[in-house]
Amino acid sequence: MDALTSLQIVELQRTLLDLQNELQQLLERTIDSSKAVDLDQPIGRLSRMDALQQQEMAKANREGHQRRLKLIESALLAIKQQRYGECRRCEEPIGYLRLKVRPESPFCLACQAQIEGGA
Ligand SMILES: [Zn+2]
Repeated sequence: MDALTSLQIVELQRTLLDLQNELQQLLERTIDSSKAVDLDQPIGRLSRMDALQQQEMAKANREGHQRRLKLIESALLAIKQQRYGECRRCEEPIGYLRLKVRPESPFCLACQAQIEGGA
């Protein structure tokens, strides 16, 4: 796998900044929907369960977005520190094609597979 060229880094940085913006806005917009359901509210049992379920989903979504935002932030930091594109586990280049799909990836494909496989 080849290390990134400076042009590729510039391009990926732009993608990361766009993603960061998008996620921040998304998180801002969904603050209300993940707020605790008021159980004292006089709503029926079914609609209360609906509300709880929707709240759970909104919360899970937000947590996913927040996790991704953290990865994006550390990728942007890595660009500043000139170690972007390097796998944090084996220190091999992650590869441009993989970063093009997920520019926030902190690991190369092989390490990611091992981490997800629990090895
Ligand atoms: Zn690796």
